[in-house]
Amino acid sequence: MQTKTIKMAVKKRIALIAHDNEKKDLLEWAKFNKGSLAKHELIATGTTGAILERELGLKINKLKSGPLGGDQQVGAKIANSEIDFLIFFWDPMQPQPHDVDVKALLRIAVVYNIPAACNRASADFIISSSMMTEEYERQIGDYEVGRGDLLK
Ligand code: PGA
Repeated sequence: MQTKTIKMAVKKRIALIAHDNEKKDLLEWAKFNKGSLAKHELIATGTTGAILERELGLKINKLKSGPLGGDQQVGAKIANSEIDFLIFFWDPMQPQPHDVDVKALLRIAVVYNIPAACNRASADFIISSSMMTEEYERQIGDYEVGRGDLLK
């Protein structure tokens, strides 16, 4: 398959999402990493973003609440190359009304080959990576090449 390259700048656009039972964990993680997060552009679903903005005092681009379409908005931003990586503490113990949106978001993160941390340990590894302060070129499968055949 052909691939194409998408460049991540030094300043990353980071999406932050936590399900209700995971919000405390994300907040603790974000407080601990506030210094690093402050160097980047932060985007979050509505409630997560409001909590983080209030508690961290950092500017956060708040989208709709997850169950009201926020996860889909994050997915659309990933598809439009407007988000570079995803910190998503989803709840493994409780069904969510927007379960299909969660699944769609995780899928689109894989399609666009963005780093995605779904728990605190993964988030720790990502945030402490030297790549956080460098440019990075991620490769994505150029699925449009194949899709074009359908138009012939
Ligand atoms: P919230 O959405 O930040 O608005 O709570 C998160 C989610 O449930 O996906």
